[in-house]
Order: sequence, then C-alpha cells, then structure tokens
Amino acid sequence: MSALPVAAEEALDLPDLAELAEVSRRFETAPPTSVIAWAWERFGPEVTLASSFQDTVLIDLAMQVAPEIEIVFLDTQYHFAETLWYVEEVRKRYDLNLNVVHPAIEPDNRWKTDIDTCCAARKVGPLERALVGKNAWMTGLRRSETPERAKAQIVSFDLGRGMVKVNPIATWTEDDVRSYEADRDLLRHPLHDRGYGSIGCWPCTLPVAEGDDPRAGRWAGTGKLECGLHQ
Ligand code: SF4
Repeated sequence: MSALPVAAEEALDLPDLAELAEVSRRFETAPPTSVIAWAWERFGPEVTLASSFQDTVLIDLAMQVAPEIEIVFLDTQYHFAETLWYVEEVRKRYDLNLNVVHPAIEPDNRWKTDIDTCCAARKVGPLERALVGKNAWMTGLRRSETPERAKAQIVSFDLGRGMVKVNPIATWTEDDVRSYEADRDLLRHPLHDRGYGSIGCWPCTLPVAEGDDPRAGRWAGTGKLECGLHQ
C-alpha cells in the first residue's frame, strides 16, 4: 500500500513507495544510464536534472539516453567566474536544455553573517521554484561524499518536496567519477586543477590539500555540511 498522501499521488501520477523501493533495489548494480532512462521514460519533461556544474559526469550520462532533459543550474550570484565559464562551455558542448535559475533577492552580504539564510535564499528557494510542476528531480549526489549521504537511495520519494528523487550515481566513488571523466574525455572544471575538490560559491569554498576530503573546503570551519538542497 502506498504511504504517499492520496491526493498528491493521484494528482501527480506518482509511483507508490513499493514501486520506488523495488526500482531502487533493482538499480543498485545497474549502470546509471539505465536509471536515467527509467526516469525519462517514467516522467518525461516532468523530471529535471539539477547540476552544480562541478563536473559533467551526470550530464554526460544523461545526454546519452535523455538529451532533451532539462538541466537546472542555480546561479547563486556568488559562483566563481570559472564556474560561469564552465557552464557556458558545457552548454555549448552538449546543446543543453539549460534553465539558469536566479535568487529572488539582489546580491547582499548575508554570506558574511548568516550562511544558512544565504543558502536558503540563493539555493533552496530557487530550486523550489525550478521544481514547480515537476514530478521528479535528479541529482549527482553520491553516498561516498559525506556520512549524511551514505544511505542515499538511487530512487526515493523526496517527502519535503512531494516528488521523486533520483540519484543515478549514488553508488559511485570519487575514483569512479575521475575514471569516467578520463575515459570520456570530459571537460574539467578549471578549479579542480587548482586544488578545489568540491566547488560551490567563492565565499564558502577553499582548496584542499592533496588526499584530503574533497568537501573539506566547503564552509570550512563553520560546522555546516549541506546547503539544504538534500533534505
Ligand atoms: S554557499 Fe555561501 S555564498 Fe553560496 S548561497 Fe550558501 S552561504 Fe551563500
């Protein structure tokens, strides 16, 4: 029996939790392109792929089976210039169906005083707007990134947003990502070669030492680990 709110399930034609659990189990050993193909077949234009444009692994995989899928990029107004350059280069390379979403506020200095409300205004709120009318969203979240992400399912129900969440590369390690990039000769974000393991907004991202946790440079010294997109 489904545990979803009946009205929401009927209105959006969402799969029930049993179907999602079964699909997720089945995809544990399947290639990510199979996951993406399932999502595209199941939801069509009502699934969107949210990319932080730190790399193009998920985009490259998606372009092989769902080249028309909408790609959402959250322009926080505080990205590195290199990231904005990279977004444009990737857009051209794949002829992306790209939706750049901006905050509803002007640039300000709240990143100096309140990083949680800054992320809420510049990331979480814009994503909510981007997902209006969608039944599913897809992310490049990986279990190995943080302890908080270790139990992420490949397919699940995003209770907070009332839609399906798809993580096609949840099982991949950092080495898997780098190997895929090399095998496919993907365009690399230029900051990776300058010591940035994980790339977000410039006020909140530092390079890390060789061998350190790639995410150690995000909100370093604040205790903050997530921006709020992955509830
Ligand atoms: S990462 Fe930093 S600058 Fe970017 S939205 Fe969050 S607090 Fe603001």
